[in-house]
Amino acid sequence: MVTGEVIWMNGEFVPWAEAKVHVLTHALHYGTGVFDSMRAYETESGTAIFRNTDHLDRLQKSAAYYRMTLPYTTAELREVTHELINRNGFTGCYLRPIAYRAFGPMGLFPLDNAVDVSIAAWEWGAYLGDEGKTNGIRVRTSSWRRMGQDSFIPQSKATGQYLNSVLAKLEAVESGVDEAIMLDRRDFVCEGSGENIFLVTGGQVVTPPLTASILDGINRRSIMQISADLGRPVIERDIARAELMDADELFLTGTAAELTPINEIDGHKIGAPGPITSEIAKVFDNALHGRDQRYSEWLDIVPVQSTV
Ligand code: PMP
Repeated sequence: MVTGEVIWMNGEFVPWAEAKVHVLTHALHYGTGVFDSMRAYETESGTAIFRNTDHLDRLQKSAAYYRMTLPYTTAELREVTHELINRNGFTGCYLRPIAYRAFGPMGLFPLDNAVDVSIAAWEWGAYLGDEGKTNGIRVRTSSWRRMGQDSFIPQSKATGQYLNSVLAKLEAVESGVDEAIMLDRRDFVCEGSGENIFLVTGGQVVTPPLTASILDGINRRSIMQISADLGRPVIERDIARAELMDADELFLTGTAAELTPINEIDGHKIGAPGPITSEIAKVFDNALHGRDQRYSEWLDIVPVQSTV
């Protein structure tokens, strides 16, 4: 992790080491925060944030589910991301906006606590490793179910909800693999601890539907578009656990993980990234880096600003 120099907090750019919160911050005690993440890539037209507005809109939506109103519009936050990149001098980076209930009255009722907002940026390589991104990772089915909509709001990227993902990730890594695949409460395939999942079977690309308690991943949407453009419209349907073991190809998508192939699940070899995964991955990588004009509207080019 290569940290930035400044972090934006509630309207101000503060030095990285000074971006602090009070120990009685409501979100620290009760998980009342929401976050999102974007990646910016170096392209021929300059640094570009991939689907920036889509991510910031999802942040607003994540917050609204929990009755939080951000004191900034998506347009204002978008401006902040641009200035943050310029001030930190990044050409490519990871961006982490977070909105959270601040220090104020204690107790669970949240509406009297202010909503604070911050955006940090740093340089972050392949989340599941360069080797994993190229040759695939090993995964296991988690003993932890992905939260259901009877307990939480799976469509929200709420901080407290991520304890569910943390349990799954811990179990996976401590049992010697790279990532966890969680089932939903009906025992159908859901997603990774921080990624959506796709499988390829008999030439068809399949992914769980939004009703399977998944996060509506922005990269999932992108992959669905790319796969359709390659003549393989993605089928959204419930997937049984055994189908993962039988799959011809499997891969994960997410902002941190980008597109990461899976080469083994629960001890079943899937093997090196297959032809359909590789074809989709190539177009996706071109889209991220501004090398495919068909997807140029996904790129938010950061204007070069003079900040001092
Ligand atoms: N599922 C979960 C639980 C996640 O945390 C993420 C990462 N945001 C994803 C899926 C993938 O979403 P996206 O493609 O929007 O990053």
